[in-house]
Amino acid sequence: MSKLPNTPTSIFSIMSQLANKYGAINLSQGFPNFPVDQRLLSITKDLIGKNVHQYTPMNGVPSLLEKIALLTFKNYNRHVNVASEILVTAGATQGIYTAINSFIKSNDEVIILDPSYDNYEPSVLVAGGKPIRISLNDDYSPNFNRIEDAITKKTKLIILNNPHNPTGKTWKESDFEALEVLLEKHDHVLLLSDEVYEYISFSHPHISINTRPKLRNKSIIASSFGKSLHVTGWKVGYLIAPENLMLEIKKIHQFLVFSISSVSQYAISEYLDFVDFNQISKMYLRKKTLFQNLLKNSQFELLPCEGTYFQVVNYKQISSKGDTDFAKELIVNHGVAAIPISVFYKDLTDKQMLRFCFAKTDETLIAAAEKLNEI
Ligand code: PMP
Ligand code: GLN
Repeated sequence: MSKLPNTPTSIFSIMSQLANKYGAINLSQGFPNFPVDQRLLSITKDLIGKNVHQYTPMNGVPSLLEKIALLTFKNYNRHVNVASEILVTAGATQGIYTAINSFIKSNDEVIILDPSYDNYEPSVLVAGGKPIRISLNDDYSPNFNRIEDAITKKTKLIILNNPHNPTGKTWKESDFEALEVLLEKHDHVLLLSDEVYEYISFSHPHISINTRPKLRNKSIIASSFGKSLHVTGWKVGYLIAPENLMLEIKKIHQFLVFSISSVSQYAISEYLDFVDFNQISKMYLRKKTLFQNLLKNSQFELLPCEGTYFQVVNYKQISSKGDTDFAKELIVNHGVAAIPISVFYKDLTDKQMLRFCFAKTDETLIAAAEKLNEI
């Protein structure tokens, strides 16, 4: 009777629970442990006494929608229609789930690029669709031959995630050019672009689907204020999509949640006037460099990290164990929690890799590195 008979509990819950149980330093689940900006806190405190506690309009608080449109224009030079092309969601998770369930019907195929973030496949399965999981190249860049081979008449959607969780890979100009050629040829296919790490790109400025006129009219883009404003627990994200797609998404959204937490929306709306989005990559670049330097003499081999706040490492020199077992051992015996990469593959491909989250205070990163260097 289960709709998801083969879907386990999310690895993020499992690893964070284990980290808590054993008192390990938690570099597993992706959330910052540094303090939230005082300005956001004081805006929120001031708001609590005001008239902000009832349902908001279904799309989102009007001032927040205006500011999302402004942000999209400033960063990507795209004019989005405030009334018809933006939807505020309970985190990107609900946005992605809703988008998938708005378009995917029984037997529709959805191409997912592995390793892939864990909420894509279950959302497709609940919709009755068929996830078609294809591996990225060994360096985690997209392989367009494989993608094209997987496209059929039943293909409804391709999901891409850039910058990429868990690998930290980012898409290049040439990747987008190839995608444009492909989707021109297969024009029945829609795109869902998960860009929750859009403001954490190190190697080059983030290339958003918002900046691609050939793609954006067939795309739904997911963003997350949880990630961008360091408040993952607030669960505020948003979707941008052309009106014809957004109309369908809103039909589902109105019966899934109708509207999302009012106070968070008003607070974020006010706070956005003070956020310098250019600082986010700079702050995380400093943390990435710190963490990489701290581990440079360890037995872990560090993979390139072009974006996101995740550092992938290879532990082949330390152990021959599978990555899930090794991740558990790392918690129990060495006091540091990480995420095994194999869980992001359909076939659990195990390349003996772990993902560490470096969205942490310097003290936390130093303490974790000390433990990791002892191994
Ligand atoms: N997509 C990716 C790639 C993620 O890493 C996450 C986790 N933040 C989400 C979507 C979900 O975002 P949110 O926390 O806003 O629901
Ligand atoms: N996106 C976060 C990560 O990759 C986890 C979010 C969650 O716990 N669902 O770690």
